[in-house]
Amino acid sequence: DDRIITTNMQWEDEHELSLRPRFLAEYIGQRQVKENLKVFIEAAKLRKEALDHVLLYGPPGLGKTTLSQIIANELGVSIRTTSGPAIERPGDLAALLTNLQEGDVLFIDEIHRLNRSVEEVLYPAMEDFALDIIIGKGPSARSVRLELPPFTLIGATTRAGMLSAPLRDRFGVVNRLDYYTVEELAFIVTRAADILQIGIKEGGAIEIAKRSRGTPRVANRLLKRVRDFAQVQGEGVITEEIANEALTRLQVDSCGLDHIDHKLLLAIIDKFSGGPVGLDTIAATIGEEWQTIEDVYEPYLMQIGFMQRTPRGRTVTGAAYQHFGREMKQ
Ligand code: ADP
Repeated sequence: DDRIITTNMQWEDEHELSLRPRFLAEYIGQRQVKENLKVFIEAAKLRKEALDHVLLYGPPGLGKTTLSQIIANELGVSIRTTSGPAIERPGDLAALLTNLQEGDVLFIDEIHRLNRSVEEVLYPAMEDFALDIIIGKGPSARSVRLELPPFTLIGATTRAGMLSAPLRDRFGVVNRLDYYTVEELAFIVTRAADILQIGIKEGGAIEIAKRSRGTPRVANRLLKRVRDFAQVQGEGVITEEIANEALTRLQVDSCGLDHIDHKLLLAIIDKFSGGPVGLDTIAATIGEEWQTIEDVYEPYLMQIGFMQRTPRGRTVTGAAYQHFGREMKQ
């Protein structure tokens, strides 16, 4: 995945770790989520209890990992980070759980990818802070219950619908993260420019924000690329013109769409008269996996109102036709 606007984590984003806000007050946007968490965190601290288990869901790059670290910081506890696919066997999870201190946070990214046998160990751990271990084999085997320190599980997923019901039901706090507004992203970009010590004008920040697909991770990445242009071609300050020129050169259009989005939308417009057309057909036409289209490309195209899911397939809207300067036929 080599798109500059990919929402997946790329190696160069590692440097972005320093751009991560560390406390709730620095975490921009997601007001409702923040306000709720603030109350729950304070209540847990007052009662000197572990915070209830938290599920965070929403598209990649919106700040789930960041928020988990903030929760641990605000609680004043340690966080251990892992992911669904990394926990292969029940023993791996047991090792993680028994190493937690009282009140700690265990963060499991991509929690929808936990396998069944691991999930079953997680249920009593979440509910009763206990591990059920089988000792021995055959008829003499017996189950021993091991107590765990109270802890907070934070699960993150891009696909809440893929979580099994018993797992979902064990989270007391469920929060959905939404795409960010242009104003919020401009704020994030300005803050990041400050940390990276690069000058930026308001127009420059807004130009980057508009093309960031509602996603902080993309905003930070575009900022770094635009910075290169500003330093080499400009006066070292990101202005609207520099941002515009740089992003056009990088083939990110005024709505944050790149050549793959164009290929997808134009295929539906040109080959299927704007739809409705089935996902499988679109996938075959543009040579991409249907899962990738559904998980990665579509959510943002639907968010900006360029595409719709209907029972008979996908359709492209008038707004998209307009974006390409096309006439929509009835
Ligand atoms: P996710 O876990 O949802 O994929 P991350 O937490 O890794 O997303 O966020 C990606 C990056 O975006 C972070 O490194 C951080 O710099 C930035 N970021 C995310 N959310 C915010 C926010 N609310 N305010 C400021 N920066 C943010």
